Amino acid sequence: MDITEFVGKVSEDIKLLEHERYLFVSPHPDDAEIGCGATMKKLAGLGKEVYLAVVTDGRKGYSDPSMQEEKVVEIRKQEQLRAARILGVKEIFFLGFEDLGDYRISDVREKLIALMRRVKPDVVFTVDPYLKYEVHPDHIKVGLAAMQASLFSGFPSIPPKDIEPHPVKAVALYLTSSPNTFVCVDAEHESKLAALKEHKSQFSQMWEMIEGYVDYKSREYGKVQGCKRAEGFKVLPTLFLHVFPDADEL
Ligand SMILES: [Zn+2]
Repeated sequence: MDITEFVGKVSEDIKLLEHERYLFVSPHPDDAEIGCGATMKKLAGLGKEVYLAVVTDGRKGYSDPSMQEEKVVEIRKQEQLRAARILGVKEIFFLGFEDLGDYRISDVREKLIALMRRVKPDVVFTVDPYLKYEVHPDHIKVGLAAMQASLFSGFPSIPPKDIEPHPVKAVALYLTSSPNTFVCVDAEHESKLAALKEHKSQFSQMWEMIEGYVDYKSREYGKVQGCKRAEGFKVLPTLFLHVFPDADEL
């Protein structure tokens, strides 16, 4: 067997922008916008169905010690709703896990499997849980839960069994240091910035830094793809999410 040929054949079926339904899974309100806001906008502009699941409530994202956490949760929810509107998100799901809480990966996985069976995404976007030096537990747990749910959503033996299984074709990892796929977003960059700006509680104090980094990264990825700006993803067919050592090389 020629492994390059095999990998190439399976990967060829994953043309990232050519599907109908996409689910973006974000650990906190704002992560999806940072990692792939412009791609969300692009897909929505192409007439695709774009769904967003925000797993935790973001209650730890404040710097003013007098703030009540419940108030932070509400502020961030409203910011997320406004940002999602700019990016053309069709429906948003707040899963409500506690930011930095003691929840288990399997708890998130179960909720995500149910959601995937409901919205039937072809491709699931989530943070790369294998990002070297990423230590935030929400990012590691949510990334893994979303990848596991993408693998198991199509298994009839895995609960919840009252919803029909739905096979996900591929996962696309954002905020990754191993991108293998780049999406040109020249026309969508401004919308991404506008969406990020809606997260005032997070970025207003350091907007210049955020804007500067997003600008730098999009140009760097753009060079790879031959456009001005791009976003980068590690795309893996779900078939490669289990017992497949070559996934690292893709
Ligand atoms: Zn985050």
